[in-house]
Amino acid sequence: MNVKIAVIGGGIAGLSIARDLALRGFDITLFDKQKIGNGTTTQCAGMLHSGARYATKNLRTAKLCLQENRIVQKIVPHAVGKQKAYFVRYTDDEPEYEKNFVESCKKVGIPIKKISGDYAKQNEPMLGPQISHAFETPDKVIDTFTLVFSYFYDLKKRSNVKIYENTEIKSAKFDKDKWEMKTNKATFSFDFVINSSGDGLTQVSKLFGRNIELSYIYGSMALFSGRLSSRIITRCAPNATGDVIVPAHKYTLIGSTWHERDKRSVVKINKEDEKEIREIAGNMIPKARDSKLLSSLTSVRTHLRDDSYSDSFGNKRDFLILEHQDNGKYINLLSVLPGKMTIARYVAEQVGDIVCKRLNIKKKSKTAITPIKKPINISRRFKFYIS
Ligand SMILES: Cc1cc2nc3c(=O)[nH]c(=O)nc-3n(C[C@H](O)[C@H](O)[C@H](O)COP(=O)(O)OP(=O)(O)OC[C@H]3O[C@@H](n4cnc5c(N)ncnc54)[C@H](O)[C@@H]3O)c2cc1C
Repeated sequence: MNVKIAVIGGGIAGLSIARDLALRGFDITLFDKQKIGNGTTTQCAGMLHSGARYATKNLRTAKLCLQENRIVQKIVPHAVGKQKAYFVRYTDDEPEYEKNFVESCKKVGIPIKKISGDYAKQNEPMLGPQISHAFETPDKVIDTFTLVFSYFYDLKKRSNVKIYENTEIKSAKFDKDKWEMKTNKATFSFDFVINSSGDGLTQVSKLFGRNIELSYIYGSMALFSGRLSSRIITRCAPNATGDVIVPAHKYTLIGSTWHERDKRSVVKINKEDEKEIREIAGNMIPKARDSKLLSSLTSVRTHLRDDSYSDSFGNKRDFLILEHQDNGKYINLLSVLPGKMTIARYVAEQVGDIVCKRLNIKKKSKTAITPIKKPINISRRFKFYIS
């Protein structure tokens, strides 16, 4: 086809976009200023959402999560855990939230099942005495390292994909419908550019003459020694720090913290966060109160700050695809934030559709039906959490 597209950023957004476009037959060059997978994606909670966590707040997000939960399990089954999650309720909980939760999940079509506290404790013996009952949901653990690594190898073996790691974009110029991009290694020419650089979005956009204001919500997942559960345990209640417990190989991740900033900064987990995490999680699984804290995974949720841009859902917390223009003319440049790892494949499909529309090329997305092979020797490239 000989259409050259640059994808900037090798997190789940950039990887999914590169794969979607590569499967449609475009020539793809994927750039990352570090190693692929060094960003938020491999530091996140690792929940393949079913939508249950969002159903009471945002039906459309919940529906998308449910759709993608099913697709991701089909295309990368080797990265996804087997066990369904438990959303737990306490004996003294007020009934309103539960009623709303059950009705909202029903509206979305999320298959949830009410189970007794005793049955939940049979399967998860560390659950605390105040659990009265729980809802089993299709939320699953996803190993984000395996996910990223699977995408990476899938792309690497394709003849129409080139990957440049440790490569930073230095400048960009749009001329005669082409982007000329200089990096620290070479100069390239592209027909289309996708900026999916996560928390680097603002900085990269500036090189393309765009000003995108983001807010940064720092989140840490505390990493505890040992496994406290064999599945995701989460509170069936409005979200709070420490209300998600995720088994991760030999460890347990609990979080997430929430610190919003206007500027990019360094916000790590602090003593107060740890106290809150232990308290909230300790009500679900008492052992969380005194388990050994080994480390934390800290990353950032990037959201659009300027409401003058509109995204697909009109909601800053959902995904973002900005199609840039100059004086009403499209300039073959998109800026993309996936919002959630769970829905990145869907967001990439939308990006692929826009690219095809602008270039007047009829090629359909194949990512929902094309499995990604299990790669070998994952641990050689990614150290899992701590060595
Ligand atoms: C604490 C926390 C927990 C979360 N938990 C979940 C969860 O359980 N489930 C879920 O679905 N979602 C979760 N999310 C959201 C999810 O992690 C993110 O939406 C997703 O990982 C973002 O992917 P990304 O590709 O945009 O960003 P990233 O993974 O950060 O990738 C961006 C890439 O761009 C590169 N880059 C940056 N600047 C440049 C540049 N100048 N030039 C070239 N490359 C550049 C970076 O090196 C990086 O590799 C969580 C988020 C947080 C913060």
